[in-house]
Amino acid sequence: MKYRHGFHAGNFADVHKHVVLIALIEALQRKEKGFLYVDTHAGEGLYDLRPDPDTRGEHESARGIGHLLRAPSPGGGATPTLIARYLDLVADARRRSGLRHACPGSPWIAVSLLRPQDRAVLCEWRTEAFVALRRLMRDAAQVHCENADGYARLSAWLPPPERRGLVLIDPPYEEGREDRRRIAATLQHALRRFATGVYALWYPIKREADSGRWLETLTGRLAVPALRTELWLHPRDSRVGLNGSGVLVLNPPWQLGTRLREALPALHARLAPAPSAGGWSVA
Ligand code: SAM
Repeated sequence: MKYRHGFHAGNFADVHKHVVLIALIEALQRKEKGFLYVDTHAGEGLYDLRPDPDTRGEHESARGIGHLLRAPSPGGGATPTLIARYLDLVADARRRSGLRHACPGSPWIAVSLLRPQDRAVLCEWRTEAFVALRRLMRDAAQVHCENADGYARLSAWLPPPERRGLVLIDPPYEEGREDRRRIAATLQHALRRFATGVYALWYPIKREADSGRWLETLTGRLAVPALRTELWLHPRDSRVGLNGSGVLVLNPPWQLGTRLREALPALHARLAPAPSAGGWSVA
């Protein structure tokens, strides 16, 4: 496995995904009863984006979190609460870690938002990343970290005794067809065990026609309510690299779409290289 999330941490796709994650957690926390958060592909939890003097060119985060931190509010308007919440979490991660350039990953964001009645399970396959994650979470009593294959381990945690749960599946998509096969099998199995869970799957927008067909087939087969949100900054079919970021949410919580529609225009306006570049959607 060659994937190192540190190269991509804080890029525009990470920002989009983490804003959706915050919206999901806040939606689940409208009820007092606790829930289980499972991050099947957790990564290290926190990344130090300090500029590397040996690396030529800018880090991907410069056009993501870096842009967001620098960009003024478009039109001078108020910052939507979801984006403000994300920026607060970044500032908090920097303050608590003592790292000026720290960028929180999904485990940090989720665990920072947990209430005493909520729990988290974080799975990471790559041992080096797992060791960093476990160290980061060493004082978090409600958190269990596993050095394991998140696809295989998910069903062991379902259904949670709380009967409420949020699962984030955020694979590196290094294996092409094999990733897609495993995602479909994992979601089918998880839904059989825990039909009412909320599942969020991140996916890249690279070759539009191909990924669009796959997602339609997948959601058709899973046959549960679904919401898709996308943010793209480049022509969706260009082969230059990552054109956009998508999150498929199964069993979306009430008003998730409304909250995302409030935040995404401002997020797009702050991240797009030009006002006419790319777009956003919630459907
Ligand atoms: N969710 C993280 C975040 O938002 O900060 C980023 C995760 S990164 C895109 C994908 C992670 O999955 C990498 O750290 C990689 O080592 C790990 N990984 C790859 N295959 C895995 C598997 N089968 N099970 C668990 N983790 C895996």
